[in-house]
Amino acid sequence: MTPFTYRCADCGRTYARDEVRYLCPECGKGYRPGMPLVGVLEVVFDYGVIGQAFDRAKPDWNLFCPVEKEFHPPLPVGNTPLGRVDRLGAELGLPSLWVKNDGLNPSGSLKDRASFLVVAEARRLGMDLIVAASTGNAASALAAVCAATDIRALIFVPETAPKAKLVQMVLYGATVVPIKGTYDEAFALSLEYTAKRGGLNRNTAYHPLTIEGKKTAGLEIWAQLGFRVPEAIFVSVGDGVILGGLHKAFVDLQRAGLIHRLPRLMGVQAETSDAIHRYVETGRYSDAPHPTTRADSISVTCPSNAHGARRAIVESQGLTLTVTDDEILEAQATLAGRTGIFTEPAGAAALAGLVKLQAGPHRLATSDPVVILATGHGLKDVDAPLSRVRIPPAVAPVLDSVAP
Ligand SMILES: *Cc1c(COP(=O)(O)O)cnc(C)c1O
Ligand SMILES: [Zn+2]
Repeated sequence: MTPFTYRCADCGRTYARDEVRYLCPECGKGYRPGMPLVGVLEVVFDYGVIGQAFDRAKPDWNLFCPVEKEFHPPLPVGNTPLGRVDRLGAELGLPSLWVKNDGLNPSGSLKDRASFLVVAEARRLGMDLIVAASTGNAASALAAVCAATDIRALIFVPETAPKAKLVQMVLYGATVVPIKGTYDEAFALSLEYTAKRGGLNRNTAYHPLTIEGKKTAGLEIWAQLGFRVPEAIFVSVGDGVILGGLHKAFVDLQRAGLIHRLPRLMGVQAETSDAIHRYVETGRYSDAPHPTTRADSISVTCPSNAHGARRAIVESQGLTLTVTDDEILEAQATLAGRTGIFTEPAGAAALAGLVKLQAGPHRLATSDPVVILATGHGLKDVDAPLSRVRIPPAVAPVLDSVAP
């Protein structure tokens, strides 16, 4: 761990580690559930220490971690594979295309990275209850990491979450409260719960260490490419915290003097859940009133990290795209059929965005690495692709019934 302070992303005030917990006390006064978070806190390290101590021959990632190793939960998270996908790359005109398969985390999604760090923080603080609202994956991630410790998880989740995710969180032993309502309503309820009844709130971006946890995916991409900054990273976007975390990874590396430019961050949203996309395009924020996408993990009316996500896109000279559910399910099948990686619809949205970009006038033409982040495992929601899959009828177990 490297010493750090918290800095408010909006007003720039800085705070000592234990002076604040969630939002900037000043800017946070203006926050009400139902609007994007204001006063999100950013971890600012002593970058001189990191620059001095970091050794590429023997990387110590704890230098970039804001919680001491002794508190880390005993469930290994992250270090997921990054592999080149030449068949797909050839089709898309990208000779160095890579997929990072974060579906291979313990609970099957990138969310484990954020839960890992918030659980570590709860252990440091001696707290025994963590509360979260989730579309599904953040909850199953929190439940999994808590299961490896003696901390309890209390979860508010829309009753419509995919079955596999609900099964996971119950099986891991969390207290699960399905909500007759949306993810946004579950988010507001969980804030009220921790304010009035206690527990550490793990809501995405509300707890600043969720961003630091998700950051580790970006650090790994840099290391796995042989300490190279890719040209671009495609990522699906719901609340915009994975996007914010990727940005923070490369900002940390740059501040430590280890890299000299940022990768272009390419955020992909579902057409009906496009608040961040429109915010980037117009500079004015408004909700996505009726998100109906099958990609449940990126279905959100009011993205909590809308402001941070927009900054990440602008500062990295990236862009945002929207895709339809048909394009998402098509990309899911393409990824599975060309690479062997089965990702849930939200994970496939990133590829759907790349496919769309490559079909248009602003296509990428580069031989530098381009990375697709596959954020969740396909087995988390088999109902979504089932409509497009024809499972052949059964035949008698004799050779004559098998086409040659
Ligand atoms: C949460 C999630 C996302 C989106 O992450 P945000 O931080 O909400 O933008 C994308 N894919 C999967 C599988 C997720 O679980
Ligand atoms: Zn502030």
